[in-house]
Amino acid sequence: MIDGCTKTAGIIGDPVSHSFSPVMQNAAFRAKGLNYVYLAFCVAKGNLSEATRAIAALNLAGFNVTSPHKENIISCIHELSPEAELLGAVNTVAFRDGRLKGFNTDMAGFLYLLQNMSLLSVKGENVCLLGAGGAARAVSLALAKSGIEHLAIFNRTVEKGEAIRELLHKNGLLDLKKTSQWPLDKKTFPEAMQNSAFMINTLSIDPIEKGLLPENEKFSYLKAAVDLRYNPPEIPFLQWASAKNGCTAINGLDMLLGQGVESFKILTGQKAPLQVMKDALAKNLAGQQGESE
Ligand code: NDP
Repeated sequence: MIDGCTKTAGIIGDPVSHSFSPVMQNAAFRAKGLNYVYLAFCVAKGNLSEATRAIAALNLAGFNVTSPHKENIISCIHELSPEAELLGAVNTVAFRDGRLKGFNTDMAGFLYLLQNMSLLSVKGENVCLLGAGGAARAVSLALAKSGIEHLAIFNRTVEKGEAIRELLHKNGLLDLKKTSQWPLDKKTFPEAMQNSAFMINTLSIDPIEKGLLPENEKFSYLKAAVDLRYNPPEIPFLQWASAKNGCTAINGLDMLLGQGVESFKILTGQKAPLQVMKDALAKNLAGQQGESE
């Protein structure tokens, strides 16, 4: 029941209507009996600082942040957690005592996904990373902390891949000789991916749909392909990876869950009801699949 005491939280991004966060977080508030509501706000790039000021003025409990605002929001808030500082990106903002504090729960989210990959482990493996944006930085840190052997980064803007190599090196997580950086180009890809056992797509576009990968090539070492996206449920990159290479295909739903659990704690100060959130996501995904059939 929404009343005069209901606290408001939400997510800002553009686009944002595809997000499953409202379904997941509202289910969690209900399960815990918390008088909170979670909404999606579509905020255009040019309106970010105005929207952030409005969130503080309206005394919202806090909010999640998604593309394209994760980096730019830093200049609009008062302080950062150590993870947000390290990653140079924020995906959760808490508003307390008149101050906006930014956190990053994406790394925790990807670690959760890695822990739930049904007997597969990245430890000691070569990993190929497509993309070098904000999410890729969090994913790289999680991979390095999980003990991978080598990370091959493929990105259109090569400087961003190089920045990830520096980040891992400077923080003592992966030596420069254990990382490499390549243009996103289907000719270089087969050799440069260095017999990776895991291929992780963090691009905001689909590399198969856009013709960026050598579709007809078979990668026999591949154990799993992961894509951070989850909606719409049919992901051409994952469909190609499992059909062509016979590997396990994993979408970004577990990462969303893992980061959502951490965000819930930040927004409410309470332990998150993980199973309730997981069930809400599964139900929503099944609904989307039904709609697209
Ligand atoms: P960014 O905008 O920071 O990065 C986008 C990436 O995609 C960059 O590597 C960019 O390359 C690349 N890219 C975009 N357009 C093109 C194109 N036309 N051709 C080649 N490369 C392109 O986004 P994020 O890192 O924040 O998010 C990436 C994806 O991950 C999104 O789909 C997002 O929804 C998803 N995500 C999922 C999460 C989850 O919980 N499941 C959590 C976080 C993100 P370049 O550097 O050259 O611009």
